Amino acid sequence: MGRERMLRLSVVLSMKVLSCRRYPYIDPFRISEAVTHVYHSACKFLLFEKKCVSLQRIIVFNKMENFIVSARKYRPVTFDSVVGQQHITTTLKNAIRTGQLAQAFLFCGPRGVGKTTCARILAKTINCTNLTPETEACGECESCRSFSDGGSMNIFELDAASHNSVEDIRELVRQVGIPPQTGRYKVYIIDEVHMLSQAAFNAFLKTLEEPPSYAKFILATTEKHKILPTILSRCQVFDFKRIQAEDIVAHLKGIAEKEGVSYEEESLHIIARKAEGGLRDALSTFDQLVSFTRGNLTRQLCNENLNLLDADYYFRLVDYFRAGDLSNTLLLYQEVIDKGYEGQHFITGLSEHLRNLMVSIDPATHKLMEVSEALRNRYGQQSAACGLALLLRWLDISSDYEYRYKDAGNKRLFIEVALMKLATTITNI
Ligand SMILES: [Zn+2]
Repeated sequence: MGRERMLRLSVVLSMKVLSCRRYPYIDPFRISEAVTHVYHSACKFLLFEKKCVSLQRIIVFNKMENFIVSARKYRPVTFDSVVGQQHITTTLKNAIRTGQLAQAFLFCGPRGVGKTTCARILAKTINCTNLTPETEACGECESCRSFSDGGSMNIFELDAASHNSVEDIRELVRQVGIPPQTGRYKVYIIDEVHMLSQAAFNAFLKTLEEPPSYAKFILATTEKHKILPTILSRCQVFDFKRIQAEDIVAHLKGIAEKEGVSYEEESLHIIARKAEGGLRDALSTFDQLVSFTRGNLTRQLCNENLNLLDADYYFRLVDYFRAGDLSNTLLLYQEVIDKGYEGQHFITGLSEHLRNLMVSIDPATHKLMEVSEALRNRYGQQSAACGLALLLRWLDISSDYEYRYKDAGNKRLFIEVALMKLATTITNI
């Protein structure tokens, strides 16, 4: 199929999927499956990945129309429900309790770890007229209700990534001049503040230096090093952490149970690993997989949908290495190729597997593995059978080949040579 035609067909199909939300007599499953097919072929032939991602989202939303996006539905509304940032929420609560709240805050940290969520909770809490003994917003007073339904006039959010001009900041400064009609504080959240232009920064500085007593500023950024020292020195700085895999898994478990989604423990670990510490990414992957697997998250289905190679292959491979079994090693790699996995992913995955085996030798380093208990035991057994010296040699070989992979001429042969080296290491010791 020609490139043009494929593109047009994808667009037409996605439009149909969109329209079937309005016309329920069209079976969304059938159309989404057709789009899925086109999506996969399109990925292969056209490489217009960005468009594909939006197509994929459309499919997902149509497959489970009643499934509300978890990131929105389960957004924390109290400090205590924020995942993995206790060091920050405790400090903020203490400051509110003792009335020593700064005028300006800078929230730094990777994307999707709860910066904006914490900013919103802070805004809601300091305006609540009936704080709970735990220094949380009551959720019932007039102010809390207006925050919950998005109608509060005391919170302003500016996305500096798209509104970074002097005019945008001047408008904000004008707003700051008007005292709140109801409630105590007006809170200004400026997201991605490092994107503000130099002139916009300058226009903002004066307000940040001498803000009115009712104004609080919360600046959020993923790139702290780009923030000018003049801004840094005027803010109380909070560093948000990457969220630990265990915390993400525990959070997903809670959602799965509330939503009646069945899951295998390892599938949630796969999602957590893929998200690399960002809860928002983990939640959107979770939503996507719940839709694709129709509410039954198994390890196998998760791996397939995220295009990851199952750990099982690597366990088998290492067993072959240990036995010096060259033939089965090469046959297994053929199986991997047949499944459509790319060489680079394969060799990176192998290095990761060997690394996991190495850290599972000593119980003290077990926590460096972000895997389920069952898989951890499996790693333990295999690593005990291999021993440290052998694992180090294998890791040396695999990381060397991983590093040189991109320059290899015949990629397939290159990986095969690596595998042959690995499978014969034991006989050469
Ligand atoms: Zn309240």
